[in-house]
Order: sequence, then structure tokens, then C-alpha cells
Amino acid sequence: MIPDGFRRGRPFNPYDYQFEYLASFYLVKGSARWVPADPILGSAFVYRRGLLVDPQKKGKSPLAAGHICLEGVGPALFAGWAGKDDGFACVDHGCGCGWEYPYQPGEPMGMPWPTPLIQITALSEEQTDNVYDALRPMIELGPLADLIPKTGEEFIRLPGGGRIDTVTSSAQSRLGQRVTFVPQDEVGLWTAGNRMTKVADTQYRGLAGMGGRASLTTNAWDPAERSVAQQQYESQATDIYRQFRQPPANLSYRNKVERRRIHRFVYAEALRENGGHIDLDSIEAEAADMLERDPAQAERFFGNRLVYGQGSWLREGLWESRKRQVAA
Ligand SMILES: [Zn+2]
Repeated sequence: MIPDGFRRGRPFNPYDYQFEYLASFYLVKGSARWVPADPILGSAFVYRRGLLVDPQKKGKSPLAAGHICLEGVGPALFAGWAGKDDGFACVDHGCGCGWEYPYQPGEPMGMPWPTPLIQITALSEEQTDNVYDALRPMIELGPLADLIPKTGEEFIRLPGGGRIDTVTSSAQSRLGQRVTFVPQDEVGLWTAGNRMTKVADTQYRGLAGMGGRASLTTNAWDPAERSVAQQQYESQATDIYRQFRQPPANLSYRNKVERRRIHRFVYAEALRENGGHIDLDSIEAEAADMLERDPAQAERFFGNRLVYGQGSWLREGLWESRKRQVAA
């Protein structure tokens, strides 16, 4: 369900980029084998975790909320390869929405976690609230209310004794718990200095033990800060799914006409002119406003580009220009 705005309460239909992210996150290894007595968990999937980098307001919070619903009560685990006449029916799992899906033979089937433990994690409470505030109406306004009758201010109980909690740098009481899914938000701000790299590592360890997985979302980061986002993006690991659509390098963010092209490129199907919720003019107004105060941040937030912050060791553009000189 769409959590707010004029479309509140209507079914949440993912944008192409959101669908692409989820489809990749749940890509099953062709070699995965399933036995009912001891079902394979996270290792059934090609990717151990996902990283989505997108600009401000493009819809990362509703996506995270939808993803949490799926991990909380939906078919988030691999349940073997479909034979003839296999199907998924929501009603078999206590949901009254009426959804049924007939599998094609050979397609991967899904099943819910028996006891899902989900930790919405971010640096600040304001950031966990972004996801949590999208999540509550998503549950309350639709058929998920049958499965999850009560959504609290602090946490949400799930069927089977599971629950959804929030974790921040200042409230880490449940850290180290046996988590099955961890949405980590704004990981571009998670650094050693604010102790969030340690939080991330603890959660990855917990997930590894449980066969669970993490989904990381963020704006483009400042490469001088060595954030969790940067580490995960630059890591040699091949089992991290990374989705980061960067605008063409030849377009300048300082040039008004080119900036508009950059915004068109990175917001793409989320723009109102393409049927989405984002008004291009208001993004440009906000970006122009921030450009005056903090150009690097504006370009990261709205232009979806990796830009060094002000006052860091390398002046912006210096590296690129020297590289060109060397090449020439
Ligand atoms: Zn259902």
C-alpha cells in the first residue's frame, strides 16, 4: 500500500528501478537445492546483500518499507523449484488479500521466514523514522493488517514470534540479536568515526549466522569519508548486488541546462512527466538552493554523483583534470 500522499492506500506498484533491485536481490542460484527438513536460507541467493544508491526523494523509504513487509510475512525464502501445478496462495499463510500465483515449472518457489527478526538501522532516529513511518500505514491500510494486527510506536510484532525493531547509533540495545533481515539506511553516512561501521559489521555477522541478508540504501557519498556505502561499493566481493545509476560524466552540475539533464537521467521513471511522483522543477529549486550553500552535497543528494565534500584533501575536479593531462 502507498503510505502517504494523494495515492495513499492504493496498491504500491514498484517503479522499474525498484523492481530491478528486488528482482536482483532475490535472484536464486541455479545450483540451489532445497530439502523440507533443513531448508536452505540466504545462501540460496546469488547475492549476500544489496546496495542501492539513488538521489533524494526518489522513493528509497517506500521501497525499504515494502521490502520489510516482504521479509516479514511474504515469500522471502527459496522453497525449491516448481513442478507442474505448483502455486503460491496468500491464504495458505493467513493473508486474506486473495493473491495467488501459479508457478511455471522450473521456477523458484518462495516461502516466508518462520521467525523473522528485522532491524531497521540508521545513524539517527529521524532516518529510521523515514522508513518506519512509511512502513506502518503500508501495513495498516491493507490486507497485511490481518497478519499484523498491531503496529506500535516502537516496534512491530510479526507472526511466529518475529518482530521489527529500529536501531540507531545511540540506541543499539538489540544489536547482535539473531536477525534475518537488516535494512541499513543512509549507509553513506556510516563511518568509523560515528561507530556505524562497527554496527554494520555486527549486523553482518548476525545475519551470516542466521542465513539472513542486508539491504543497503543511500545517497551518493563523500569519497573522503570511507563510509560503509563506499566500502561495500568498492569491495572485491562478487556477491554484493550494487545498483548505482550515475549520470554521464561529461555533464556539469554547475550548468543549469546540464543539471536538468542530470536530474532527468537519475530520477528517470520517478518523474511526474514519466508517470512518477517527482516534480522536476521542485527538485531543481531545492538543488539550486543547496548549491549556494554546499555544492558538493547538492550534487551528491540530487545529482547522484560521488563528490568530495568541501574542505577535504582534494579540490573537486582536480583529480579528473590531472588525469586528463597525464593521458594527453
Ligand atoms: Zn496476501
